[in-house]
Amino acid sequence: MRYISTRGEAPVLSFEEAMLTGLARDGGLYVPESWPTLSEAEIADMAGQSYEEVAFRVMKPFIGDAFTDEEFRGIIARAYQGFSHIARVPLVQTGANDWLMELHHGPTLAFKDVAMQLIGQMFELALKRRGERVTIVGATSGDTGSAAIEAFRGLDAVDVFILYPHGRVSEVQRRQMTTPSEANVHALAIDGDFDTCQQLVKDMFNDLTFRDRVGLAGVNSINWARVLAQAVYYFTAATALGAPARTVDFTVPTGNFGDIFAGYVAKRMGLPIGKLIIATNQNDILHRTLESGAHEKHGVTPSISPSMDIQVSSNFERLLFDLYDREGDAVAQLMTELKENGRFDLSQGALDRLREEFASGRVGEDETLAEITTMAKLTGHILCPHTAIGTRVAREHLGTNPMVTLATAHAAKFPDAVEAATGHRPALPPRMADLYDRSERVTRLPGELAALERHIEQNR
Ligand SMILES: *Cc1c(COP(=O)(O)O)cnc(C)c1O
Repeated sequence: MRYISTRGEAPVLSFEEAMLTGLARDGGLYVPESWPTLSEAEIADMAGQSYEEVAFRVMKPFIGDAFTDEEFRGIIARAYQGFSHIARVPLVQTGANDWLMELHHGPTLAFKDVAMQLIGQMFELALKRRGERVTIVGATSGDTGSAAIEAFRGLDAVDVFILYPHGRVSEVQRRQMTTPSEANVHALAIDGDFDTCQQLVKDMFNDLTFRDRVGLAGVNSINWARVLAQAVYYFTAATALGAPARTVDFTVPTGNFGDIFAGYVAKRMGLPIGKLIIATNQNDILHRTLESGAHEKHGVTPSISPSMDIQVSSNFERLLFDLYDREGDAVAQLMTELKENGRFDLSQGALDRLREEFASGRVGEDETLAEITTMAKLTGHILCPHTAIGTRVAREHLGTNPMVTLATAHAAKFPDAVEAATGHRPALPPRMADLYDRSERVTRLPGELAALERHIEQNR
């Protein structure tokens, strides 16, 4: 399988190159040249298999000969051995025909671990083989950063610098980033919001001299390997609920459009998914796009679901590429409009296709708290605010298909919101109970490219 840029002007790469590169040199995102499909029999045969086995079968067509089968099975086994649930991504019933897919059993209690643990193992093997060293730089609204640090801490061939918006991540998220003591881990608190951080990372990748000098590599949700890793759990969930004989709907709490785009990938591969439902908080650019066809930035309003406080949804570009018949020129033009005018309008054809595959809903702050209370009452499950946004939107879209809502984080990662809703402070799992006692290490920097590049060069 070869990988092409959504903007059509970057070199065509192998899986390994696309994984190590992150953002394409023309500013676009790498996507597979075509969507491989699995037969109905192959999908049916996944039911009852281990998560690791399904992971191997789903991802194999995309990785080509990057790893031998034996290497790839080893990578998958090491990636998920630290998860605290034997099913890795278990389903929990929440109603007659609706379910939660719990993605928070990894080391940092959010779904980002599912992909990050895997690419940590893939990077290590690929870099060792090449005898290379890279500098990983990522922006985070909270969960990606801790998951990246957890996946790459202590590895020889990697320095990891994580930018997060100062004062805008939860204390648990911050401590997960600032308490690892390994010398290759660098937490950077940036003055600005998440979009500032994400823009700085993009600008760094577009500074090609700097990029080559430090061997820049990206692990944000723009990295294709992450999206791919997330496609796996759509298969385990849907087949457990009767696919391919039954069609399953999914509701996904959405920020950067990575997790839900992975569902779209699963659907392109042949998994019978009905609707993919985008659930947003008050930062609702994607919901507004579906309603009006105008993709328009309004600025970020901090919320109690900070991992979704985003107005530039990077992975949406990958969907645009398909909506515009995979024409890089058209995508490049839309992205230029977005950068210059803060908005673009979808063509009628693109909007129709978008609405065929996706639906959406938006949930405000008070409704989010109320939903945490409701779900505690209805099911006894205490949800994190992101997940609550999902279940609330899912309820509005219940039909005849089984509905699966992605539970994206553990409630203990966002204790303030959960306590406000339920009156009880959720406890951290025992394995990280001492998080509040560990000492922190962090550098605060202005949201300026030059200062940041200097810091990275001097500290890698
Ligand atoms: C990252 C994150 C999201 C949003 O996922 P995207 O892939 O950016 O859409 C939702 N909930 C939690 C808890 C997250 O960490």
